[in-house]
Amino acid sequence: MQKGLVWFRRDLRLHDHAALASAISSCDEVHCLFVFDPEILSKLEDKNDARVQFIHDSLVEMQNQASIEVRYGDPKKEILAYCQEHEISDVFTNRDYEPMAKERDQAVKEALSSKNIKFHTFMDSVVYEAKRTLKDDGTPYKVFTPYMKRWLSVLAEDGFEVANYQCDLSKIVKTKNSINSKDWMKEVGFHSCKPHLEAGTQAAKKQLEAFKKKISDYTIMRDFPAADGTSMMSVYIRHGNISVRDLVRAAQSGSTEGHHKWLSEVIWREFYQYILDQFPQVEKQAFRPAYDQIKWRGGKKELEAWKNGETGFPIIDAAMRCLKATGTMPNRLRMVTASFLCKTLLVNWREGEKWFAAKLLDFDLAANNGGWQWCASSGVDAQPYFRIFNPYSQSKKFDPDGIFIKTWCPELSNLDEKSIHAPHELLPMEQQLAGCVIGQEYPAPVVDYAKKRVEALAMYKQALG
Ligand SMILES: Cc1cc2nc3c(=O)[nH]c(=O)nc-3n(C[C@H](O)[C@H](O)[C@H](O)COP(=O)(O)OP(=O)(O)OC[C@H]3O[C@@H](n4cnc5c(N)ncnc54)[C@H](O)[C@@H]3O)c2cc1C
Repeated sequence: MQKGLVWFRRDLRLHDHAALASAISSCDEVHCLFVFDPEILSKLEDKNDARVQFIHDSLVEMQNQASIEVRYGDPKKEILAYCQEHEISDVFTNRDYEPMAKERDQAVKEALSSKNIKFHTFMDSVVYEAKRTLKDDGTPYKVFTPYMKRWLSVLAEDGFEVANYQCDLSKIVKTKNSINSKDWMKEVGFHSCKPHLEAGTQAAKKQLEAFKKKISDYTIMRDFPAADGTSMMSVYIRHGNISVRDLVRAAQSGSTEGHHKWLSEVIWREFYQYILDQFPQVEKQAFRPAYDQIKWRGGKKELEAWKNGETGFPIIDAAMRCLKATGTMPNRLRMVTASFLCKTLLVNWREGEKWFAAKLLDFDLAANNGGWQWCASSGVDAQPYFRIFNPYSQSKKFDPDGIFIKTWCPELSNLDEKSIHAPHELLPMEQQLAGCVIGQEYPAPVVDYAKKRVEALAMYKQALG
């Protein structure tokens, strides 16, 4: 009798799952395992981290359908021990492209192989890996548009269909230590909390269905933070409550410009996974090495004001407060706040990358690093360094009535749509009348945007020659 073990990581679902489907089709008995890894958890400083709760809640949902063994410890040891306890001959898992995960998986593979246990890995968290999306000369693309063209031509070669792995759960055996067997949040050193988005496949599918009703407006609405015009799928994709192929099928459910644009965003995600896989050095270095020579002039005061949403720039403060409170931030504002940190506050983008990594519910090393290096101009296909988002005009353009600003900066509630983007420009009397005295109820701008723009260009130029 062949017994297989499926090791779940960032793929917390029981449908359209490459590793699970393969275990089911090739084994007589299938065991499922999730390991809370202290190496990862110990790096999370906030013991109310909603992402741990999100994982916990995803496992609770999975446990309602099939039995998942839960353990806490070094995955290599836990997997080996489980295999030996249950005479498992084959372990199945989906590939992860982060450098640390690759190293971990190699160590697991070697430990298993020393005991004659096979380790099978599968492509699942992306639609296409690099082997199908390299250039004709065998090297990786570094520019998005040609990469996307190649990606779409591979989709065409496959008859415009992506796999849908069927998973008959009847072979999954009952295990002892389920997510319900104890208070796992406490066991792994975290407090219970309530993530801003409900975890699990059901919630993900519901959200996706709701988004499909408005996807045709995506191109127009996606940049307006108050409009709720994007899918909110990133959190579910990050934890694997839904498959990336589910997203492609959703994008293929119609042919409006919105459907095409949304698919291109899903391909941006693939692009950054591909970049991290092919150029793992980006985790620690600028993709363009010269950008590591920049002498950043901003300091702790500016960084703290940015993190806490107290810069005196309403659109920035609203976005940063939203991030802190919910773990989410719309893409347009991620671009604006990231650009603001490095090109207006002149603070090293690595500090911002770290803060986003600590706070984002959808934190993903590849997308976060890609997004930051794009904004800092140091990355693949990044915006040129002299392109600097003006926080005032971005605010006027994308939150014209100040609705998003007022949601997160209630002290600005009485300001009209003309003054809300730059309240420090109001006369003292007008500030009094609006109940928002600058320097008291709301901070004065921490820097002068126009001056910093000039300084940023000089700072970049000095390093880049
Ligand atoms: C500085 C910065 C940091 C970022 N950090 C992350 C991160 O840690 N995790 C993360 O998932 N995304 C990150 N992004 C990308 C993007 O902001 C989010 O994916 C998007 O806001 C998620 O919202 P949504 O699901 O409603 O997106 P939608 O607009 O509905 O897009 C659909 C899906 O496409 C993918 N996607 C969309 N835009 C991008 C993009 N620019 N790069 C990569 N994938 C994209 C996501 O998986 C998203 O769920 C970052 C962007 C920037 C500029």
